[in-house]
This record gives sequence, structure tokens and C-alpha cells, in this order.
Amino acid sequence: MTNKKVCYNAWVMKELLIIGSGAAGLTASLFASKYKINHALIGEKPGGQIMDATMIENYPGFSLISGSDLMQNMVEQIKQYTPDWRETRVVHIFKTETGFKAELMDGTWVEGKSVLLTMGAKHRALNVPGEDHYVDKGVSYSAVADSEMFAGKVVAVIGGGDSALTSALHLAEICEKVYLIHRREDYRAEPGYISKVATHPKIEEVKNSMVLEVKGEDWVSEILIRTNEDEGPRVWALPVSGLVVTIGLMPAISLAVELGVSLHEGNYLKINANHETSVPGVFAAGDLALMEGSFPFRQIVTSAGAGAKSAASIHKYLKGELPEPYWS
Ligand code: NAP
Repeated sequence: MTNKKVCYNAWVMKELLIIGSGAAGLTASLFASKYKINHALIGEKPGGQIMDATMIENYPGFSLISGSDLMQNMVEQIKQYTPDWRETRVVHIFKTETGFKAELMDGTWVEGKSVLLTMGAKHRALNVPGEDHYVDKGVSYSAVADSEMFAGKVVAVIGGGDSALTSALHLAEICEKVYLIHRREDYRAEPGYISKVATHPKIEEVKNSMVLEVKGEDWVSEILIRTNEDEGPRVWALPVSGLVVTIGLMPAISLAVELGVSLHEGNYLKINANHETSVPGVFAAGDLALMEGSFPFRQIVTSAGAGAKSAASIHKYLKGELPEPYWS
């Protein structure tokens, strides 16, 4: 049975394998279809990280939309153009004489002449005692996915970026009270979210504070916090029934490492202006990649744009029209 499957797949040779089905991968697939690039799109979570975003106010064409609605629209549009969409995960990838070969979670494999890596980023953990133990017992990394778990409760949201502030605003609509705990005085989130948080009657801001430990019995019941005050640090306990950790993302790089792609400091994949990585034929776009001399700016609109530009670059690469990368 397995041999039969392998024999069948031995004939599958695409021009492009797009790995990841978030905003970058979906848009790349749309543009690849327009360029008539024979490609496969491989991603186990259609929509990616953005499915967890509570409110998006900065995607052109929509004044306010949830991440799941926006991505569902994209998925529906792109499914019309992407005939080979595999809702599974790539477990391994390696270089062959003719291109690249990816082994998929469902036991099949697929080959391509080029690869576009768009696996995005994974949530960062606090790494404090009790955090792991209480995952799904009060500790969460997504206010949207775990809304039901928090309804009517007193919860704490950790972080000072867009994710933390939009999560706090979302939870304030369904929770009794929300504490927003940030390690510094100033947030890095958009000013619009900062003013909404500051005036929301159900949100209490706790600044200059770090979570030291998560405590409880069967379920989270309190967190231990250290607050830096003028007189010195103060350690105190805050009773909460939920903790949403939204302290940033880490690039998902394991497949890139298998391929030998060069990384920047911070583990972003190094790309040039044409989205080429250091490995010929391997391109990258979205939250996991960073252009030389640039800084990370992770927005849905930038990921979508990067996906579109990558498809155009790959189109040129397949025709032998891309200039030599500057690092070769
Ligand atoms: P982020 O912008 O990197 O912010 C992470 C926050 O967590 C920072 O405030 C950081 O503090 C804090 N932090 C990091 N490590 C910590 C630790 N160990 N303990 C306590 N706090 C810690 O991450 P994000 O908010 O997840 O956003 C990721 C990207 O997606 C951003 O580019 C963001 O703009 C974008 N995004 C956009 C929207 C939207 O527009 N609707 C929604 C969500 C996300 P410091 O500030 O002190 O470094």
C-alpha cells in the first residue's frame, strides 16, 4: 500500500513548492497561479497565525475585521486558483539533483524545482514555573481560540505589543476584568490600541511588571508578579483564573535549517530584495524572513505583499531571468 503511494508520487514534480498557508503563502499561491507556475501549496492551518487575531484595523479595504474572517475570505478566493492544496505539514525537506523533495505528514511526498518558505512564526513562551503545567487549564497563547475558556472570568494578558493590546480589548468584551501586564512603561503597540486600552473601564494596566510564577490547583488561581517601583522591586500575588501570554513570536525555522539557509541574529531567514535565501532555488517571505539592513515589521499587508513579490521573483528564477544574488 505504502509503496504504491510512493510510486504514484514519484511522478509529481512541481515548478514550485509553497510551504505555509498564512497570508504570505496564500498570496504567493494566488500570484503563482496568475503566472501559471505549476505549484503545490502545503499548509496544515489555512490562514496561519492571523486566524487568532481579534481585531484588524489596518488591512486596506476593511475598517475592522477579525483575523478569521479576513483569512477565510483569502482562503476561499485562493482555493479557486490553487488546484494542488495539501492541508498537511512538511516534516522534512532536502535538496535533490533536480530540485527539492518534501516529505509530508500524511506519508506522501512531493518534489519541486524551487521552494518558497512561508511558515511564519510560533508564539513565544514566558518560561516561568507553572506555565507549562497550566496550558489549557487557564494558560493560553490565543485570546480568540480560547475565548470560551475565559468568558466571565478575571484574566491577565501579558505583553505590550499589538497582540497583547488587541487581546485585552477582545477579552474585556467577554470577561469580568482584564489585567494587562507589561514589563515596561511604554507599549510598542499602535497608538490607537493604546488609547482604547487606557480608557476601557474593564482593563487595568499593570506596568513595569514581570510574571514570575503561575500558581493554582486544578486550574490557574493566581500569578506571582514582580513590579519595579521607585522604592525598589515588589513581589505580589494577583488572583486570576486565566493568563493569556502574547509576548511575541519566534520564526519557524526548522525546515530552513534542514536546507542550510543562512540566518540573521534573532533566527530570521536572511533574504535579499528578491526574496532569495542563501540556498539557490529557496525563497522565503513573511514573518520568518528578514531582508538585509531591514527591521522586522510583521503585518498582514506586508506578508501578503511579500508573498506576491516572491511569486514574481520565482517566475523570473524559473525562466533564468533573476540576477545572481549579491551574496553568491
Ligand atoms: P511584539 O510586537 O514583538 O511584542 C511583544 C511584546 O511582548 C513586547 O511588548 C515585549 O516587551 C513583550 N515581551 C517579550 N518578551 C517578553 C517576556 N519574556 N516577558 C514579558 N514580556 C515580554 O509581538 P506581538 O504583539 O505578538 O506582534 C507581532 C507582530 O504582529 C507585530 O509586528 C505586530 O504589529 C503584529 N500584529 C498586528 C496586529 C494588528 O495590527 N491588528 C495584531 C497582532 C499582531 P518589550 O516591548 O519590552 O520588548
